[in-house]
Amino acid sequence: MDQIHSTRIEYVQSLATPPPRCDGIITDRPNLPLAVMSADCYPVLLFDEKRKVVAALHAGRAGAMGQIVAQALQRLVDDFKAHQIRGIIAPGIGSCCYEVGPEILAQVEAKYIKRDRFLDIKGMIKDQLSYFGVQYYDYGICTCCNPNYYSYRREGRTGRFASLIWRSA
Ligand SMILES: [Zn+2]
Repeated sequence: MDQIHSTRIEYVQSLATPPPRCDGIITDRPNLPLAVMSADCYPVLLFDEKRKVVAALHAGRAGAMGQIVAQALQRLVDDFKAHQIRGIIAPGIGSCCYEVGPEILAQVEAKYIKRDRFLDIKGMIKDQLSYFGVQYYDYGICTCCNPNYYSYRREGRTGRFASLIWRSA
């Protein structure tokens, strides 16, 4: 996907050129890998083994605050009758490092604000997963703390790492 920090979610059936401009992508086609590129934003991968559907989400601050995870889960339930969805939260920036300004803090619930000015994006993602009863695996890695990962906050100009999911036939 051509990621734009939105909550747009597209369903795809084949490799698209150019890739769709969105931050969430869903497919039920076999052997079609979905990728999220990130450096601090959270990649969230979803799958339902029974319904054979997978999704990849780019959930940074804008996506998490815009409920992109909940929106994707609703699509999986509505369009694919998914009811055993599982999730993976790949490494992203933790509330240990993600300091934001007052204009952003004013828009979020107090429970997502740590130590007065640090935003807990992963808390938002977990709450959206839990609301749908999704069991998930959390890597528990902060990209800003851990030098093995690219971090926009730590490095400024930096690379991206890719998180991929696909269903086998
Ligand atoms: Zn950190």
